[in-house]
Amino acid sequence: MRSKYEVVIGLEVHVQLSTATKIFCGCSTDFGNEPNSQTCPVCLGLPGVLPTLNRQVVENAILAGLATHCDIAPRSIFARKNYFYPDLPKGYQISQFELPICIGGYLDIETEDRGQSRIGITRIHMEEDAGKLIHPETPGASYSLVDLNRACTPLLEVVSEPDMRSADEAVAYLKKLHQTVVFLGVSDGNMEEGSFRCDANVSVRPVGQKEFGTRAELKNINSFRFVKQAIEYEIERQIDVVEGGGTVVQETRLFDSNTGLTRSMRGKEEAHDYRYFPDPDLVPLIISKEWVGQVRERLPELPEAKMERYISDMGLPRQDAEVLSGEKAMAEYFEACVELHGTPKTCANWVMGEITRALNEDSLSIAACPLAPERLTAMLKRIDDKTISGTIAKTVFQEMWTSGKSADEIIEEKGLKQVTDTGAIEKVVDDIIAANPAQAEEYRAGKKKLMGFFVGQVMKASKGKANPQAVNEILKKKLAG
Ligand code: ADP
Ligand code: MG
Ligand code: ZN
Repeated sequence: MRSKYEVVIGLEVHVQLSTATKIFCGCSTDFGNEPNSQTCPVCLGLPGVLPTLNRQVVENAILAGLATHCDIAPRSIFARKNYFYPDLPKGYQISQFELPICIGGYLDIETEDRGQSRIGITRIHMEEDAGKLIHPETPGASYSLVDLNRACTPLLEVVSEPDMRSADEAVAYLKKLHQTVVFLGVSDGNMEEGSFRCDANVSVRPVGQKEFGTRAELKNINSFRFVKQAIEYEIERQIDVVEGGGTVVQETRLFDSNTGLTRSMRGKEEAHDYRYFPDPDLVPLIISKEWVGQVRERLPELPEAKMERYISDMGLPRQDAEVLSGEKAMAEYFEACVELHGTPKTCANWVMGEITRALNEDSLSIAACPLAPERLTAMLKRIDDKTISGTIAKTVFQEMWTSGKSADEIIEEKGLKQVTDTGAIEKVVDDIIAANPAQAEEYRAGKKKLMGFFVGQVMKASKGKANPQAVNEILKKKLAG
């Protein structure tokens, strides 16, 4: 029954830009400070003040537009979107409506079900955020408070075409967009702080029908997991409505992450008529080709290009390249290691291996990695020059991770230097062979697999410090003899 229906999804994403100051005034955009401490007459919406456009916001919007293959409009207009809300002191939000700064782009995504698909981007526009209402949790409190620190902070709204066909595709698109703005450095992408939030428009239609079904809009979802849950619930709900002989109504719904359900917030009748009109306080924004060209020069290398370079220039396997290029902080860490050490595959192994394991164990992100690339690669040099073995390196790594000491200090203090002195190793080998006559016999009779056993015994006896290569050679010689 479910397979009779096709799902159609379009996303509207709000991205908070990480400029130092607000979009139309010089107030700081810092998060989490004393309420109303970052305000001025402009962002408080006092009468008689004039907004001044932040150049950095425009350049960030151009960067986002270029990275998503949009056209940059040579002329765009700021418009007033009129509505009343206590956290919007002016009674209108300055946004863009008819002539946004970026139009007609796309992002390519990949999902297991549909493989590669191209999701159209209708437009990207700039706007100011509203303030925040705080509803005190004190029982019986009959008032709300307003914090205008966020009022007038810069946002990009990225509107997609209704091109997605499943919750998985919506999540893949959202992740790609998130990755893009973070790599561009235009946003910190912090979803918990609301720097990246999404409205999902969802509808269903019988397979083969050309017209779209009526959509519901799910408001302000701030995690990838919730986007998937909300959309999946909404699909089921709409199919049930249609199967039950009803019709889906156009409405705005809220997702409740506690119950996993969406519920109606307002219907079409209550939908706002915002009475948009060009803001007379702001002149049209004219963007020359030269300006776009200058901004284009600043486009950083994005994940796909990085991945290709890791494969073709560094010779990494595709899987490694994909993991290492997928997250900005991870790519930066890895590239710093390669710069210092020189062998990409070794660096890749340690970053994807021990570093990732230790980060997970301590629930840290790589951006907060306590072990700088300099310290890691200083230890890798000690493997290269045979001061320590790869096995001992794991011990050294763990100690570096927790103690903050350097590899050399730890090797020295704990006496972990590798034993390469063949005389000393021969002595241990002799002892081990003498202690295991039965195994030695079997080995000589052809059970070559036992080599592993002997190597293990010798390494154990030397507390891991014997050079494994030397151990192998000496064992072979002595067992043969
Ligand atoms: P609004 O601001 O009223 O929400 P838009 O017409 O700009 O309006 O549409 C917003 C989003 O809804 C876009 O991302 C678009 O792709 C998506 N959308 C439009 N129609 C449908 C539909 N029938 N099903 C799913 N998504 C849709
Ligand atoms: Mg909408
Ligand atoms: Zn201000």
